[in-house]
Formats: sequence, C-alpha cells, structure tokens
Amino acid sequence: MIVYGASGHAKVIVDILLGIGIKVDKIVDADPAADEIFGIRVEKVSSETVFNADTQAVIAIGSNRIRKEIALRHPFLYTEAIHPRSCVSPYVIIGEGTVVMANVSVNPDVVIGKHCIINTGAVVEHDCILEDYVHISPNAALAGNVTVGEGSHVGAGVSVIPGIRIGKWATIGAGAVVIRDVPDGATVVGNPGRIIKTDTSDENAD
Ligand code: UDP
Repeated sequence: MIVYGASGHAKVIVDILLGIGIKVDKIVDADPAADEIFGIRVEKVSSETVFNADTQAVIAIGSNRIRKEIALRHPFLYTEAIHPRSCVSPYVIIGEGTVVMANVSVNPDVVIGKHCIINTGAVVEHDCILEDYVHISPNAALAGNVTVGEGSHVGAGVSVIPGIRIGKWATIGAGAVVIRDVPDGATVVGNPGRIIKTDTSDENAD
C-alpha cells in the first residue's frame, strides 16, 4: 500500500490504514517536509514517476483538484480507507480511493464517488449523492437527498437542508447554512448562505 501525500491530512489516513491492519509500505510526496511519518518512510517523487499499476494506493491530499490530477495521472489500484469507528450503512455505495474518518455517519442509499473525503464527525443523511473528488469537512451535516457535484468542498460545520443541489467545484465556507441550490463554481458563506463569488472557468465544466 502506498499513501500519496505526506501532509497533515495524510497522517489521518495513515492512522486509519494502520488501525484497520493495512500495512503502509511507503508514503510518497512531490515536496516532502519530513522523511518519515509514524516510522514509515517518505519518498520524494515527481509527476513523471511511474508506479506499478498493481499497487494499492490512497491519495492523501486535501485539495480536490490535486487529488483529481494525481488520480488521472497514476493508475494505481485505489483503495478506500474507512475508520473502524465510523458508522456507514451497508446500503451505501462508496467509490475507490474515498476516505471516511472517525465518528462519521453515512445513512442508507447514499452514493459516494471516487476519491472523496468524508472528514471527522461529518453526517451524510439518507439518499445523498456525492460525486467524485468531493470533500465534506469535519462536523458538516448534509440532510437527506442532498446532491454535491464533482470537486465541491463543504466546509467545517456547514449545514445543508434536505433536497439541496450543490453544483460542481463549489465551495461552502465553514459554518454556512445552505438553504438554496448552489450553482457550479460558486462560493457560499453565512447563515442563510449567500453566494459571494462564482468561478466560471472551464475547469468546472469537466
Ligand atoms: N503534493 C504532492 N504532489 C502534488 C501536489 C501536492 O505530493 O502534485 C503534496 C505537497 O507536497 C504536500 C501535500 O501534497 O505535502 C499537500 O499538503 P497540504 O498541507 O497543502 O494539505 P493537506 O493535504 O494536508 O490538506
């Protein structure tokens, strides 16, 4: 097992993997700040480094865009990392490379895409759909039937009421209360949540 990324977020993922009995052979990073994490060797790599495609890996980088870039560049056997003290219904679909931290609840008929982060203490209620590369931050709560588009970042402590659709590559600032649908690329803050800017770049269309 390789963990790609050697930052603070990576420590949490290495901790989960070790806790569920998965041996981490090495951690790789383009610009490592340390040469080991929990005694596991950190190796410097570049975007040209070629890995064995049969190797299991998790991308442990918080940025949704960087996780997507790395996932598209490196064809690892991507693996989920699900904390043993999270509560994930068996009636949930979780895509490859997605990580679920401690004290998360995910209720039935939720679909979570590839390379998502469901961070510590988040709640994802019944029938939510999270597309690839989404990050739900610590203690955020999505009520039932919420949809979150590709690459969107829901900040710490956000509340989203039932049935809301959040577009792709949107950002919901910490503590916001989302009571209206959010368009692609929008940044929403406050209670009630309001749009303060919209990134209309083509990157949001993919
Ligand atoms: N990184 C990398 N390859 C890239 C971009 C970033 O290995 O193409 C690494 C970077 O060197 C850093 C980590 O990803 O070690 C990102 O860490 P940061 O503290 O920015 O955020 P976190 O992932 O902890 O949220």
